[in-house]
Amino acid sequence: MAHHGDAVRAGEVTLDGQLAENAGVSFIGVIHTPFLTRDDCPRQGSFDGPECRIEVDPRLTPALEGIERFETLEILYWLHKARRDLLTQSPKSDGALRGTFSLRSPLRPNPIGTSRVRLIAREGNVLIVRGLDCLDGTPLLDIKPDRCSYTVQAPPKPEA
Ligand code: SAM
Repeated sequence: MAHHGDAVRAGEVTLDGQLAENAGVSFIGVIHTPFLTRDDCPRQGSFDGPECRIEVDPRLTPALEGIERFETLEILYWLHKARRDLLTQSPKSDGALRGTFSLRSPLRPNPIGTSRVRLIAREGNVLIVRGLDCLDGTPLLDIKPDRCSYTVQAPPKPEA
C-alpha cells in the first residue's frame, strides 16, 4: 500500500521541531486530473496517461507565450496533502527504511513534485497535458520547457 503518511510506520523517524526558512513561493495555478484519491494516482505519470488540465492563473497568461514550441514540459507542483516531517520512510511498509532524500516519495519537508509531460494543446491560460501523477486540485508551482529541449548540439566534426 502506498505510504500516505497518515500514520508513522515502525522505525520511521520524524522531524523534531520546525525548519528555519520560508521561500515565500506563490501558487501560479491549479492542476486538474482524473485522480480523486491518492490511491487513484499512478506512482509516476506517463506520456500515455490520461489528459490533464493545467489551469494557470489568467493574470499569468503572457508568461505562457511561446510554450507551444515545446512538446515536452517539466511541471513542478506542491503535493499539498503530504505530511512534511518524515525523515526516514518505509515506502513498502516492509520495515526497510530509506532516507527521504533517497526517495521520490511525496512525503518530504518541501513536498515538491516534478513530472515531465507531453503538451497536447494550449487553450489560452490552460495547458492540456499527459504525464501527471497528482491529485485533482494540486497547486501548480512552475512550468519549464524540458531540459532536453535546450541541449546544444555539438557542431559536426570536420572531415579528415
Ligand atoms: N512525479 C513526482 C515526483 O517524482 O517528484 C511525484 C511522485 S509521488 C511518488 C506521486 C504520488 O504522490 C502519487 O502516487 C500519490 O500517492 C501522491 N500524491 C499525488 N498528488 C498528491 C498531493 N497533492 N498531495 C499529496 N500526495 C499526492
